[in-house]
Amino acid sequence: MKAKQTNFVCFKCKTASRGPWRREFAFKCSACQSDMEMLHFDTEIPRKKNTTGWKKLEKFFRDQQERLQKEQEERTREIERWKREREKK
Ligand SMILES: [Zn+2]
Repeated sequence: MKAKQTNFVCFKCKTASRGPWRREFAFKCSACQSDMEMLHFDTEIPRKKNTTGWKKLEKFFRDQQERLQKEQEERTREIERWKREREKK
């Protein structure tokens, strides 16, 4: 089976690359050398001139990040609660 290609973007330069998804690996932007953000493989990447499209994409990405972080925090709290419950017994 072929490894799934996913999208990497640099919001600052509006550049995009496709590559295989790897947990410990970040694509570097060819223009500014910063780490690119990873997006779902079927995310539609707007054209470079499409500023509105890029703004929307960035907002979508930030919102998603925020949501994931909140979920993560919630899970951590849940585990802490569970540990405390267990210690009581
Ligand atoms: Zn860049």
